[in-house]
Amino acid sequence: MSVQVTVWNEFRHEKKNEAVKKLYPEGIHKIIADHLNKQEGIEARLAALDDPEHGLTEEVLANTDVLFWWGHAAHGEVQDEIVDRVQKRVLEGMGLIVLHSGHFSKIFKRMLGTNCSLKWREAAEKERLWNLEPGHPITEGIGEYIELANTEMYGERFDIPTPDKLIFVSWFEGGEVFRSGCVWERGHGRIFYFRPGHETYPIYHNAEVMQVLTNAARWAAPRITMADKCPNVPEPLEPISEKDVDFGKAGIVQG
Ligand code: ZN
Repeated sequence: MSVQVTVWNEFRHEKKNEAVKKLYPEGIHKIIADHLNKQEGIEARLAALDDPEHGLTEEVLANTDVLFWWGHAAHGEVQDEIVDRVQKRVLEGMGLIVLHSGHFSKIFKRMLGTNCSLKWREAAEKERLWNLEPGHPITEGIGEYIELANTEMYGERFDIPTPDKLIFVSWFEGGEVFRSGCVWERGHGRIFYFRPGHETYPIYHNAEVMQVLTNAARWAAPRITMADKCPNVPEPLEPISEKDVDFGKAGIVQG
């Protein structure tokens, strides 16, 4: 069974801005999905902010193993009800890959519980992403580092909870560093944040960046899917010895 991926995009810049349209004529989500669809064992489809229910209906999410998220200028337009729905699915086991400016998306902040703010500068500077975990599935096929000639700078401090594992750290020409590849688990779901991806640079035309996205889709696929429950179990597995209830509630063990 293939990994079912939904690539979600705000899909506004590509319609309004000529430079972005030139790089991504059919949208950032389309170039990512097209790439994933060429990989064995992955099937990707598209969803966008302006679709009904932002393209993330109950049915779509129920059939999504891994959700990619790219947003930038319209995070506030994402309905809270849909954010609740996505969060629930991540906790049940769906993978979530958040890209670049998605650091400020409602879903990313919801999952991590912090501000997710950072430093930034747009000066087409060089970035080198150092591969800290060469044995991790996300860095399969990636060498010591990935170099990008022209990028937007993101710098520390990145206001995130300490990642379960730090996969990439970026160095920028201007001197800053940034935690560019981070993984967390929330509930049964795996989350990967990957920094590269500014809309006016050809980041998603870079083969190594796309290799990381492919690896991440496979890594984040659910191993288990479990709906939340909080059952009362009045019948114990073993018989419980008789106790004085009042003493027991007070935490006093009787001899
Ligand atoms: Zn950007």
